[in-house]
Amino acid sequence: MSADSHKTFYLETFGCQMNVHDSEKVIGTLVHEGYKQVETVEQADLILYNTCSIRDKAEQKVFHRLADYKKLLAQGKKFGVLGCVAQQEGEKIFERAPHVSLVCGSASYRNLPEMLTQLEVGKREAPKPEARSLIRITGLDDRETDKCFETEFTARTNPHRGYITIIEGCDKFCAYCVVPYTRGKERSRTYESVLAEARQMADLGYTEIQLLGQNVNSYKDPAGKRSFAELLAAVGEVPGIRRVRFTTSHPRDFGRDIVDAIDAVPTLCDHVHLPVQSGSDRVLNAMQRLYTREQYLERIAWMRSAKRQISITSDIIVGFPGETEEDFAETLSLLDEVGYDAVFTFKYSPRPNTPSLALEDAIPDEEKARRLDVLMATQREIQIARYKKYIGTIIEVMVEGRNEARGQWIGRTSQNKTLNFTAPELATPKLGSYVPVKATASFPNSLVGEMVV
Ligand code: SF4
Repeated sequence: MSADSHKTFYLETFGCQMNVHDSEKVIGTLVHEGYKQVETVEQADLILYNTCSIRDKAEQKVFHRLADYKKLLAQGKKFGVLGCVAQQEGEKIFERAPHVSLVCGSASYRNLPEMLTQLEVGKREAPKPEARSLIRITGLDDRETDKCFETEFTARTNPHRGYITIIEGCDKFCAYCVVPYTRGKERSRTYESVLAEARQMADLGYTEIQLLGQNVNSYKDPAGKRSFAELLAAVGEVPGIRRVRFTTSHPRDFGRDIVDAIDAVPTLCDHVHLPVQSGSDRVLNAMQRLYTREQYLERIAWMRSAKRQISITSDIIVGFPGETEEDFAETLSLLDEVGYDAVFTFKYSPRPNTPSLALEDAIPDEEKARRLDVLMATQREIQIARYKKYIGTIIEVMVEGRNEARGQWIGRTSQNKTLNFTAPELATPKLGSYVPVKATASFPNSLVGEMVV
């Protein structure tokens, strides 16, 4: 234990926003249990990694970290692996990294305080020092759980905008994805508990809320059967809330009512992230994505016909098993047809337990890399043209930070674009405030402007 008698912990997070928010909840829970968070591994009694297994690289990183710090075991430090890799690998983690004493999947976080107590008692009462390192506690959810990890102790790091998880798990079983195996079946929080958390955040001064879930569109209030669009609109109407975002959407469950809600409630941000993954029906079918290119484009048409100008972004995987040059060309043509404001691109990599593991991963890595480069270059041209159109317009931004080196403020628009801007000395904007900025120049991924006073 550290000198000031607090039990201390260090937590590093890998992966998506769901993991980032889970970590905020884990931190809040541990602090409530009397632990103190520290900045370095060396200062900590307990070292935790909240892991991601969506790509092999992220998983390997965790095992490298564990190997790097193994030597600290001699100082009595304890190591824990949380999240998706914990759920996926389970007790195999103890074989790969025998100095780990805690393995906890994401649906078992609510049991963390009890698990940590067991761990401490076990270590204290171990008959011999060498037996202490053999104490191992495992918390793995059964994936059929209907419980969400709700806690009143969330330690949000940003005082202006914060996440609320509305749904956990996923029932879609896309062929390449580990999430249904690591996060379990879909379970929604009640409409009332989400709204109560949103009101509480507004009372604390938060003005921006991001609703989170692996597939927010399939949200279904377990009590009142309210839809995602109804929940979205209700959160947007909470007094004090100025911006509401949501991620991630699945095209199959993305209804027109979501676009109607964005049109009707001005606090709902005019940005939708709608992952398409491929422009080819053949590949979409092999990926088990449950929609066709035409159905996807129908959803795009709903958004393009909205009264507000909705910014659309997406995720794309290249090199899925069996993707031909023709399939890839269809993805490129989809980019032109949709006109995305940003695309997150990935090379396919096989993941444990997933159906696509059985497919031959025959596209060489160099070819996947080539397709990725072509995709990114195509999208870059599209973004250059799209961002240029904002020059001369006045856009409201939330002030997120300051870049001293450039003498600029960092702002975010409702469309989720970065707008870096200068402000007159006498009108210094406050972090978290909303100010109008005139866009004066554009780059492929950001805008530049001057604050309007
Ligand atoms: S919708 Fe598909 S890609 Fe998204 S989390 Fe579920 S299985 Fe994974």
